[in-house]
Amino acid sequence: MGNKRIDIIVPCYNEEQNIEAFYSEMQAVASQIKKSGAYENSYDFAYIFIDDGSKDGTLEQIRRVADQAAAGQTTVKYISFSRNFGKEAAMYAGLKASTDADFAVIMDADLQHPPRLIADMLQKVEETGCDSVAARRVSRKGEPKIRSVFARLFYKLMNKYCEIEIVDGAVDFRLMSKRMVKAIADMPETQRFSKGIFAWVGFDTQWIEFENVQRLSGETKWTVWGLTKYAIDGFIDFADSPLKFAGAFGGFIAAGSAIYLIVEIIKTIVMGKDTPGYASTICLILFFGGVIIAILGLIGEYIGRMYLETKSRPIYIEKESNISDTEEEQPIER
Ligand code: UDP
Ligand code: MG
Repeated sequence: MGNKRIDIIVPCYNEEQNIEAFYSEMQAVASQIKKSGAYENSYDFAYIFIDDGSKDGTLEQIRRVADQAAAGQTTVKYISFSRNFGKEAAMYAGLKASTDADFAVIMDADLQHPPRLIADMLQKVEETGCDSVAARRVSRKGEPKIRSVFARLFYKLMNKYCEIEIVDGAVDFRLMSKRMVKAIADMPETQRFSKGIFAWVGFDTQWIEFENVQRLSGETKWTVWGLTKYAIDGFIDFADSPLKFAGAFGGFIAAGSAIYLIVEIIKTIVMGKDTPGYASTICLILFFGGVIIAILGLIGEYIGRMYLETKSRPIYIEKESNISDTEEEQPIER
């Protein structure tokens, strides 16, 4: 028995129309959980909103909610970025700011992650003592067909070639124990792919399923290009098999050419010289030119990432926050 604290971490980018609705729905769930008495522990909810450089009134809305919450004895912390650093950076900032809570929950501001699921997540935690409960969409209803097809393909490739397993339909809606949060916040990589990181840090994860919900207001921030880039980044961040494949392919070609060369030499010695073969020569040159450039490009992708990683730029820059410096954790040492 005891009071446990749960930090609700909410990355927000241009969500001015959703913040208040999100907060009130979330608070309703929180008080229900408190009142129900169905749990072994009693839970206190606190919030960490991350304004990811929104261009609309998101920050004002967050400030309003924070004032409103203060009157009702609820803690609402917020961090506002100096520009849009992306959801990955926002989630990281939230996890870093969640230092003394027993659990942290990451969820979207657009109510596509139903707050009522948190009750189920807590139940799972109490039943199984696991470190993490994550949500999984069972349907992709309301999503463009083509997006679903590519998403499926991505998960197939990812799970085949990467060292980690990523569950199809898993969304960034997840409850985590303090030690799991700490493990993730201690990972200093600047190019973050959370779906992979959650799996990589390990810990016992339970899954709960839910039906896809439309976002409350506004539009998704994902474009086709954005999603494609996200998929490639995720793959490269967790797989080195493309490099191994490139190496193996090069070796195979080299061995083949060596054999071909020997055959040609023998043929020349035995049968004398003949000149035809211009077209096939050009074809081969072009083919291997293409292969070499493609493989160089592939290697370039990895080197480019190493370049960015070695610069070790901060993952985000804070413009404003209501979290006092003394409360914050020490920056990561490298
Ligand atoms: N988000 C963010 N930074 C971004 C893009 C999105 O913090 O650069 C937030 C957004 O406000 C929302 C969540 O991430 O709370 C999910 O974004 P979105 O709804 O656009 O994605 P989808 O639900 O379509 O996958
Ligand atoms: Mg959404």
